[in-house]
Order: sequence, then structure tokens, then C-alpha cells
Amino acid sequence: MPISSSPTDPSPLAPTAERTEALEEASLRPTRLRDFVGQPALVENLEVYVKAALARGGALDHVLLFGPPGLGKTTLAFILAQELRKEITVAHAPAIEHKGQLAALLTKLGPGDVLFIDEIHRLSAVVEENLYTAMEDFRIDMVQGDGPMATAWTIPLSPFTLVGATTRTGLLTGPMLSRFGIDARLDYYSPDSLARIVKRSATILDVRLTDPAAMEIARRARGTPRIANRLLRRARDFAEVLGDGTLDHDAAKEALARLEVDEAGLDELNRRFLRVIIETYGGGPVGIEALAATLSEPRDTLEDVIEPFLLQQGFLARTARGRLATDRAYEHLALKRTRGPQGQLF
Ligand code: ADP
Repeated sequence: MPISSSPTDPSPLAPTAERTEALEEASLRPTRLRDFVGQPALVENLEVYVKAALARGGALDHVLLFGPPGLGKTTLAFILAQELRKEITVAHAPAIEHKGQLAALLTKLGPGDVLFIDEIHRLSAVVEENLYTAMEDFRIDMVQGDGPMATAWTIPLSPFTLVGATTRTGLLTGPMLSRFGIDARLDYYSPDSLARIVKRSATILDVRLTDPAAMEIARRARGTPRIANRLLRRARDFAEVLGDGTLDHDAAKEALARLEVDEAGLDELNRRFLRVIIETYGGGPVGIEALAATLSEPRDTLEDVIEPFLLQQGFLARTARGRLATDRAYEHLALKRTRGPQGQLF
């Protein structure tokens, strides 16, 4: 079970380049709430909840963090533990395969410690049900054997804080949702916030970065800090190899062009997604399964990673009958409509 108390957690078997990336990404994580850029309303609320929990001397209520990947859910979970001065244990939901593994995780927690479960919507039904009693009554009921020979016992747990992360709350069951006292939604970041993140990261990575370059990267990072940091690292590589190492506006634009990230921040997969709706399915409506099959991409990737930004930016519309490319998508890809919205041929 991949469990760790460090924010990196690259598998020891991961290739070196992947490990280096993961370690570098981890080094960019802010560790205190005051260093967490953007999401001001959310940060202010969390500050209050943390202060109240510290003053009471009890565990912070369970927290559900939701939003697209790369917006800072894991970062916030680590920050909460740090602010609460408690230990954190990290688990990936699909890796908690049975009740025994859940019990092993829970019994290791000290009073007020944080258990972070990523992709919490992917817990199995049995594990999820057992998590309810743990969250509510801080106990876990165990049974050994079957029928009249079965023995049952209860393991008491220290009051702990569960921090669950999910990409979409719609994927969680009602009973699970209702057990979180604090819901925190992370939204896409503004270019200004992303520019601040990129500048902070450049300082940590010791990259010479001009303000216009930071803004160019921020504008094209699809509202996502992880993407902004990735673009910064790749642009740094280009600036180091092709120039004198300074990442100025021209170097940033050149690097983004080479990375095929366009003016709107869309990358090759984003554009291919829209192009398939338009060219293969006449602009839609088309179901997500058909798109996943045509693109050879998992449905989850399309729904969690690709679609939310395209929807938010108005490149895509979702209807009961499927996905539709909007006028903005046609304009952006410089393609002409050949069918009307009802599917009629022009
Ligand atoms: P998630 O868990 O939502 O997928 P992460 O917490 O792993 O996202 O964040 C991805 C990267 O983005 C981290 O390496 C972190 O450095 C950076 N990051 C995320 N949110 C912020 C923020 N508000 N301020 C600064 N950096 C951030």
C-alpha cells in the first residue's frame, strides 16, 4: 500500500527522471497557509478552523477538498497537518483494499493526527462503510470468522482528522459527503495568482525569470499551479540550453511554442479532444465513452483533467445528449461548422 508521511511519495521503482520531477515538484509546495497563493476565501476559513481547533485542543473536523487535479489539494492537506502541528499519513484510496488495511492505517494515528486519503471517491464500499464509524465515533468494529463461531470486537481510535480529496463531489456517496464538517472547493487560479506562484517557484529553483515571462507562463497554465510549475521547469530547460539561462518573455514564448501550448493554454490533447468532437462527430453531441474510445484515453482522464477547463473557458458544452463543441472551439481551431446545432447539414 503506497503510504507515506512525505509529500513526495514517488515510488522507489519509478524511473529516475520521474523521481527527480516528483522531488522537484514537492520542493515547490508551500508548507504554511500564509504561503499558499490564491483561493483567499478558502484560506481565510481554514485559518479560522485551525485556530479554533488549536484553542479547543481537539481534532479539526473532517475536511473534504475537491477540485480538478493540480490545484493544491495535497498541498493543503500537508499544510493543515503542519498548522495543527500533527503528523500526517497519506493513502491513495484504491490501495486500501480491505478493512484490515484501513484498520492498520487508523490505529497508527495519534490524537489529532491527519489521515489524507486521495481520490476518496475510489474507496471500495466495504472500506467506505467502515470509515463512517471511524469518522463519527472514532472506533472500528472488527469481526473474525463466520456464523455462531464469529467473534466481534471494537478497536477504539484516537480522534483524528480525515482530509479527503476528490476531483468531483458528484462521485461521492451521500453518506460519505455528509460526514465531512468542512467542504473546501478549489477553483482555477487567476493569471495573477499563477504569476505569483511561478515567481515563487523560480526563486526556489534558482531560475532568473522576468515579470513578463512569469505572466506569459501564468496565462497559459490553464488555471492550474501544477501546470504552471511544469511549464516553468520546461521553459527553464530551453532557456538554459538555447540561451544564457535567463527566462525572459521571448524565451518563455519560444519554449511554450515548442511545448505546443497555445495562446489559450490548450495543449495537444486539449486540441485533439475538441478536434475529434468537431471533425469526427460533426461538433456533437457525442457521448464521453465514444470520445474516450476515439481518443484512446481513459474516460476518467477526459472527465477529470481535460473537460473541466474546456467547460469553464467555454470551449465545450455538456448537454443531456452529450458533449458539444462551442463557437469558441471552432474559432480557436479555425474550423468551419458544417452542421447546425440540431445536427442538420449546412
Ligand atoms: P492536487 O493534490 O490538487 O492534485 P497538489 O497539491 O499536488 O495538487 O499541487 C500541485 C503542485 O502545485 C504542487 O507541487 C504545489 O507546489 C503547487 N501548488 C498548488 N497550489 C498552490 C498554491 N496555492 N500556491 C503555491 N503552489 C501551489
